[in-house]
Amino acid sequence: MITLTFPDESKREFPDGVTGAEIAEGISKSLAKKAMVVKLDGELTDLAEPITADARIEIVTRDLPDALEIIRHDCAHVLAEAVQELFPGTQVTIGPVIDNGFYYDFAREEPFHPDDFPKIEAKMREIIGRDAAFTKKVWDRDEARRYFGEKGEAYKVELIDAIPQDQDIRFYSQGAWTDLCRGPHGPSTGKIGNAFKLLKLAGAYWRGDSNNPMLQRIYGTAWANDNDLKAYLTMLEEAEKRDHRRLGREMDLFHFQEEAPGAVFWHANGWTLFQALIAYMRRRQHEGGFVEVNTPDMMERGLWETSGHWEKFGENMFTTITPDERVHCCKPMNCPGHVQIFKNGLKSYRDLPLRIAEFGKVHRYEPSGALHGLMRVRHFTQDDAHIFCTEDQITEECISVNALILSIYRDFGFEDVRIKFSDRPEKRVGSDAVWDKAEDALKKACEAAGIAWELNPGEGAFYGPKLEYVLRDAIGRDWQCGTLQVDFNLPDRLGAFYIGADGEKHVPVMLHRAMFGSLERFTGILIENYAGHLPLWLSPVQVVVATITSDADDYARQVLDRLEAAGVRAEIDLRNEKINYKVREHSLAKVPAIVVCGKREAEEGTVNVRRLGSKDQALLPLDQAITAFVDEATPPDLKRAGVAKVA
Ligand SMILES: [Zn+2]
Ligand SMILES: [Zn+2]
Repeated sequence: MITLTFPDESKREFPDGVTGAEIAEGISKSLAKKAMVVKLDGELTDLAEPITADARIEIVTRDLPDALEIIRHDCAHVLAEAVQELFPGTQVTIGPVIDNGFYYDFAREEPFHPDDFPKIEAKMREIIGRDAAFTKKVWDRDEARRYFGEKGEAYKVELIDAIPQDQDIRFYSQGAWTDLCRGPHGPSTGKIGNAFKLLKLAGAYWRGDSNNPMLQRIYGTAWANDNDLKAYLTMLEEAEKRDHRRLGREMDLFHFQEEAPGAVFWHANGWTLFQALIAYMRRRQHEGGFVEVNTPDMMERGLWETSGHWEKFGENMFTTITPDERVHCCKPMNCPGHVQIFKNGLKSYRDLPLRIAEFGKVHRYEPSGALHGLMRVRHFTQDDAHIFCTEDQITEECISVNALILSIYRDFGFEDVRIKFSDRPEKRVGSDAVWDKAEDALKKACEAAGIAWELNPGEGAFYGPKLEYVLRDAIGRDWQCGTLQVDFNLPDRLGAFYIGADGEKHVPVMLHRAMFGSLERFTGILIENYAGHLPLWLSPVQVVVATITSDADDYARQVLDRLEAAGVRAEIDLRNEKINYKVREHSLAKVPAIVVCGKREAEEGTVNVRRLGSKDQALLPLDQAITAFVDEATPPDLKRAGVAKVA
């Protein structure tokens, strides 16, 4: 007999080998009908799988969040079957679940077209209607190779060959269609339901390597019910309208080009915004007791070997060999550089906590298929900092960093913030004892700060556990931005120490923190969150002075001078164009305020203010308008400090 513990903590005995399906059936018919999989000790498992050991068990029904992953994975298999039925000769490759959906990569000579989607979706509905059971089989290697080899599925054969010798080769079939798969799957295709949709096509290299053939990727989404699907499609439409790549063009902020994949060409407007963010952050971290430093972009390989980056992060690193045949690495992180600053000169316990910040540009190789505008680049600027402290100081430092991060997000209008606790990953440095200590310290700090977190298992950095701050934007999307990590490993590996009150050498603890995370990405998030309508204090061009007729030119120039003297980022538009044309153009560029000057305004010393997104106009005395702009252009932190000036 085995003992299973249910979510309500009740324990029940079952014969060894009982299945989740049998257990669900024993509880109620309706539960059995709704069940997709079981969760055994946190791991999703097929309902048909015999359970052979004591475990915590939860029956995962279709309506639970965990079931979504199963619905989407099942749907990916059905997509592949549908495509092979409709387009004979197409080879299947891989089809994983992703956020909000799934994709499947196909190898086929002719291109798919979005016009094919209705036909494929119809076939998928037909397959779902067949309600064929998903059944698992384990084959031996030769049998598996033969099966796919005979079907001409060269990619699958390659995948089979890549499975380590000591691992099972598992397959899932639905009806007569079979795929190589680790599972788990729901009980049958019918359980997928109808709330799915194919979304788009993309090219993707086999195994993400540009030396390999290009495959055709079909993306889809699937949900538990129609309402959720509809809400998601509405959100996608809204996201499309806010796409920062398009807005970036319209606002003349930045561009990308082929010769520099994943690297941003910042235009003057974009760079102004970027610098406004840095200036804000610089003031906030200065307030928080951080000092700013700058460390080399490239350092020799040996240092990265000692830090562990070469081994654990090497595949993401850019390297170069200099004419003297030394290997240098572009920094993928600022941490080792900061440890060098700490190590330079003897430190004592009186120097701690030492808080070092840097707007360091880091370089990480990402496959080209993963790059996405500002959201995923290869070269990005972190608002990075490291706090060197004693074990006793960890809690207090974590509390103040947490408070700083949350206060910063509020300044940008992000009130809905979730915190995830990511513990030890598979690829890591340091002993389990040290990891226990680090995870424990971070948990205690969370408790002391009253931080509610959810566990994100195995997602910590390779040197320590971390808190991840996840922002929800205006259309309900989540973005992971800030991090706070506790690290007992790196300072030790890199030989950092301080002299304690006892006169002995001690290794400091290192806290890694970033608040925006990547400034490039944060800029993208801001653009999309505000749909380009940035708050005035962040707008690259805050005010455009536009004339109605040329007889107001002189006055308009005076208005511009006054605005600029007050520190407002202003431009002037004296072109011989209709005022409505000018307003339309600057509105498209998302300039928050247009100050219209005509003959009457010139005579009266007034301006006519039009705000982006509003049809209203306000006729104001010039002085009053300037005071209002200065107030609005003052960053929120300076406003709190009572400084009525533009930074
Ligand atoms: Zn599968
Ligand atoms: Zn770091």
